[in-house]
Amino acid sequence: MKKSVVTIDGPAGAGKTTVSRMLADRLGYRYIDTGALYRVIALAVHEGGIDSKDDAALEKMCAALSLRYVLTEKGPRLLSNGRDVTDRLRTPEITMLASAVSARPAVRHFLLDVQRAMGREKGAVFEGRDMGTVVFPDADDKFYLEAPGKIRAMRRFLELRPKTKLTFEEVERDLLRRDRNDSTRAEAPLKPAVDAIRIDSADLAPTEVVAVMLGHIEKMAEN
Ligand code: C5P
Repeated sequence: MKKSVVTIDGPAGAGKTTVSRMLADRLGYRYIDTGALYRVIALAVHEGGIDSKDDAALEKMCAALSLRYVLTEKGPRLLSNGRDVTDRLRTPEITMLASAVSARPAVRHFLLDVQRAMGREKGAVFEGRDMGTVVFPDADDKFYLEAPGKIRAMRRFLELRPKTKLTFEEVERDLLRRDRNDSTRAEAPLKPAVDAIRIDSADLAPTEVVAVMLGHIEKMAEN
């Protein structure tokens, strides 16, 4: 089968990461978590004491940043100027800061080039918010994964529970705030591409979502 670029967009907690990893595995494709790229920018902003609304400072910071994915026995790791920052990206603070910096044009423009360079070699599953709408509008297979807010918040709560003391209400509040930020920003807001297949993951196991996706990819490859 000809190698393609597959895009999976959707709000937080819809199951994109689990499904994207499984799908990439089934297809023998690379898996690219683009949210992690925004999180690295947030980490650099945090560590550098940069104002997350100062576009000139953000542009300068991005110009000095080299981002690279490497595959190790621990899975895909993200290197920022050669430093493995993968384990520092998932704190609640970096999560909210990622959503804030992701609305800034300087950051989006920088990462647009980074992501397109990563997609030049086909055979990749890209997970994010604007993969099918902006970064890869010509992608062969586009999916939009969604689920009601309560269900997504509960999934996130259960995932975070061993690591933080946040209550369900706090997790739900942060997740809904992030949804709002991501879908109302002027640049590349979160929304389904017109030609994306929409899948509601509320009542589906990840394996069932992957089966729907594989079925569609195979059908598209026949045409
Ligand atoms: O997917 P994840 O939750 O790791 O993404 C973190 C944040 O990065 C999102 O809330 C969103 O603001 C931003 N993001 C984005 N565009 C992408 C991927 C992530 O704006 N393609």
